[in-house]
Amino acid sequence: MGLSRRDFLRVSGSAVAGSALGGLIGIGADLGPARARAQELRIQDAKATPSLCPYCSVGCATLIHTIDGQIVNIEGDPRSPVNEGTLCPKGAAIYQLHMNPNRPTQVLHRAPGATDWDVWDLERAMDRVAELVKKTRDETFLERLPDGKLVNMTPAIFSLGGATLDNEWNHMQQKLMRGLGIVAIENQARI
Ligand code: SF4
Repeated sequence: MGLSRRDFLRVSGSAVAGSALGGLIGIGADLGPARARAQELRIQDAKATPSLCPYCSVGCATLIHTIDGQIVNIEGDPRSPVNEGTLCPKGAAIYQLHMNPNRPTQVLHRAPGATDWDVWDLERAMDRVAELVKKTRDETFLERLPDGKLVNMTPAIFSLGGATLDNEWNHMQQKLMRGLGIVAIENQARI
């Protein structure tokens, strides 16, 4: 790719504005090969271990690249007839499941009315959750509707799953919630 003086100034201006990348794209530069090369270099000495995305029953195949036991990249496995190297946005973020330094690693509790979070140990937090679930269920449990129809449910608890819950967790969550009589259950993985 040849850059004229005008193009160079335009790229530089874009960089000052925040992104040289945006400037290069702006003048029509094809960054695909550079990106592919950067990715190639990143994993060239890595060990590739086949695995599966844990998030839904599609079961997309992945390749986990490691260097000295550290994950440096996770991508779709092109050999898989299921996903042919592709991953949905959720699967494409699996790397973050392992490596994101922003993941909370402690139980945080904010008391009613408080502005700060306290660190709780896990046992204490689990006991508190169990205590409140039982109390709420006992107080709101409906065995029958006014017309006599048997329902055995509580309308007072809602279970909301997140995008990082995997198949197995969702299976157990359903069993637990249904067993408690909770019927309002939602999770992100509805594929
Ligand atoms: S969550 Fe996405 S990447 Fe993972 S198995 Fe399901 S479709 Fe595939």
